[in-house]
Amino acid sequence: MKGNLIIISSPSGGGKGTLIREILRTVPDIGYSVSYTTRKMRDGEVDGKDYIFVSEEKFRELIENGEFLEYATVHGNFYGTSVAQVQKEIAGERDIILEIDVQGASAVLKNLPEAVSIFILPPSFERLRERLIKRATEDLDDLALRLRNSFDEVKRFDEFKYAVINDDLETAANQLATIIIAERLNHTRQMTAIQCILDSFDD
Ligand code: 5GP
Repeated sequence: MKGNLIIISSPSGGGKGTLIREILRTVPDIGYSVSYTTRKMRDGEVDGKDYIFVSEEKFRELIENGEFLEYATVHGNFYGTSVAQVQKEIAGERDIILEIDVQGASAVLKNLPEAVSIFILPPSFERLRERLIKRATEDLDDLALRLRNSFDEVKRFDEFKYAVINDDLETAANQLATIIIAERLNHTRQMTAIQCILDSFDD
């Protein structure tokens, strides 16, 4: 049995950090894909934990070496998913969360349609704007760019199998956990156990 690839996207990348931390804390056997990025490190972020922060030159070298499952330019910076990290987690029978943008999600789903895709929606544009302002991690230009980009991102919700509205954190975290756990019950993921049971019915 292999683990599931769980793709999670949201417009502007807004408001899903806390949600995902909650899932990693409460759902067993699940890992998080630490992306590479060329974006500047924010206060409080840890290299190797939040992202692997690299120069543009290094990022291009990683592209050349085929190190990415997918990569994209998002809000003016490069972001990419390490193919080695993902392979390691799913071979170890653990699920892995890919917190990536809509372009990355679409690229992964093209190659791996069996991946579980979830779109996290803010309750409204106004609430998204408030959250990004409160988070205060971007300068004004960057904030404006992220909000502008959210208009196109949000329209792509229907490329995802599931939608979760992130209004109340606890409710949204429960819904996300329910999806992840239900997807583990897909019979194709339980073939080894099912085969043993079927064998026991043989004359
Ligand atoms: P932030 O700079 O706020 O951490 O992330 C900005 C956006 O980049 C978010 O939408 C986030 O989901 C996306 N992102 C983070 N890592 C990756 C990645 O590896 N690939 C892609 N395509 N997008 C990513």
